[in-house]
Amino acid sequence: MSMTCSTACVDCRAWAPEVGFGGYLGVPSLSAERLSDDPEELPFGFLYEPLEKLGLRTYDLEAFKAFLIRHNGHRVYTFGDSIPVEFKEMALVDSTEAPTQREELVDDADFEELFYQLECLSCGETYRAPDEAWLRSFDRRDIPQHTIDLYLERLGSLCPDDGWNYRLEPVVNPYLEFIEHLPDFLKAHRSHHVQAKLVR
Ligand SMILES: [Zn+2]
Ligand SMILES: [Zn+2]
Repeated sequence: MSMTCSTACVDCRAWAPEVGFGGYLGVPSLSAERLSDDPEELPFGFLYEPLEKLGLRTYDLEAFKAFLIRHNGHRVYTFGDSIPVEFKEMALVDSTEAPTQREELVDDADFEELFYQLECLSCGETYRAPDEAWLRSFDRRDIPQHTIDLYLERLGSLCPDDGWNYRLEPVVNPYLEFIEHLPDFLKAHRSHHVQAKLVR
């Protein structure tokens, strides 16, 4: 059986929406600061910012971000097989008890199930996700060089095995080809006119 990860706020006794297939992205903090060189200690905010700027705002990452905003400053933990001691002390988690309530803080109407695509207007090349994803809608947008640099710096160099992610859904899953080769496209067209859009 596969491990799944859950996130909850101890102070509010509230469970976060699941990220991907029972996974996570970073530690549950909105901070965009690199607080450590350990990839396992990178905050959600640090890892999510480049995805957000590229337009890769998946429903579950957006829902998770909304949870972190609501519980900012509270004691929020992500855990897998081992339950944090704070949860045991507060009897928030009983190993036989499933999470009772998950907060849904985003509006379905703001999302569409479409293909994510990058296009270089200078070269005419495109780079498209192989499957549709449930993403926050946006109009065609320019992807400036500083956004490409931000992505390459924060996510381009991370190894998927280093514990900063687990079971993310396909369009942002670093083990799948789309994200694996995204840095190649971004590097090749870094100083060109790149746009992102959602297509049918
Ligand atoms: Zn809270
Ligand atoms: Zn180009």
